Amino acid sequence: MLISDGLIAGVGPASKVEKLAAARKAERVDVAGRVVLPGFVDSHTHLVHAASRAEEYELKIQGASYEEIAKKGGGILNSVQKLRAATSQQLKRRAQAALEVFAALGTTTIEAKSGYGLDVASELKILSLHKELGAEQPIEIASTFLGAHIVPPEFRGKANGAEEYVKLLAEWLIPEVVSNGLAEFCDVFCDRGAFTRAQSKQVLSAGLKHKLIPRLHAEQLARTGATQLAVELDAASCDHLEQINENDILALAKSGTVATLLPGCDFHLGLKQYAPARKLIDAGAIVALATDYNPGTSPTVSMPMILSLACSQLRMTPAEAISAVTSNAAYSLGRQNRIGSLEVGKQADLAVFEVEDYREIPYYFGVNTCWLTVKSGRVIYAAA
Ligand SMILES: [Zn+2]
Repeated sequence: MLISDGLIAGVGPASKVEKLAAARKAERVDVAGRVVLPGFVDSHTHLVHAASRAEEYELKIQGASYEEIAKKGGGILNSVQKLRAATSQQLKRRAQAALEVFAALGTTTIEAKSGYGLDVASELKILSLHKELGAEQPIEIASTFLGAHIVPPEFRGKANGAEEYVKLLAEWLIPEVVSNGLAEFCDVFCDRGAFTRAQSKQVLSAGLKHKLIPRLHAEQLARTGATQLAVELDAASCDHLEQINENDILALAKSGTVATLLPGCDFHLGLKQYAPARKLIDAGAIVALATDYNPGTSPTVSMPMILSLACSQLRMTPAEAISAVTSNAAYSLGRQNRIGSLEVGKQADLAVFEVEDYREIPYYFGVNTCWLTVKSGRVIYAAA
């Protein structure tokens, strides 16, 4: 592979690439038979949050469900309280540390959602950090506004509280986010205990009016019809999908909406029901995989671990799983012309692994075989 000005300038057998004029004065990096992949694209993360929820992890192990914990003020509300109390500097340090680990595991681009602020100042604080971090460190960040993560505490006790909050998002916060250039996408948690399908449509339509592309948290806890809504709105992605039915699978298969599966979530919560990846792939849906890095349900930044789960639990082949975290994920972020594959003209975003066969990447679970990570032609991580 020949890299020039951060882009892939040539790819193929050494004999062919070495003949290219620009190759003569190029610096040579020999990866000695290791496996080179496109850098991973993690298309669903909640990067900015204040703290872990290890205390809830123990309660869950002892038998409390995610929803029971949420009803007692735990869950997302717990993270909201902690985020509001944290300074921008504290949040930035934690996110920065996570981004370094993302790079060490082969990830070169992530999507990041707000949604632990749920008031004007705190949501803008998170989205501004996406922008700052995107400019100051090498991993590219696609920013998503998830003001509709859950109904915030101030609106919970009120009659029509959820409707009032949706109105605040649609009429005040979305225009504010867009006028400050702080997000590309708008997301809603459309599920039992969060927002209804009608409320979700209201928020996403307001986003669309301001050119925010829809994404959706859909059918994780219950089947709500969120997948059908995602397809109807031509959303970039529809994520989770543990509870989808045959009609939802067909609708996704006929659409350009990516089905983004988050097996780290089910694994961490100890759930037995994973999303029906095989059925989605066999029906012809575009399937992506992501970490869903967040403190409550999927505290991991490890794409190699997600690949292992996709293969052993979702029964995806290693090749399908790798496509799902590279080209398909890039497509769900609207970046398919720039990243997600190793082709001439694309950004030189690479991850090199200390293995002889790409199938060994998911095969060795829970260990990091990433040896080198390159973003736009620049080394951003090298194993000792
Ligand atoms: Zn999520």
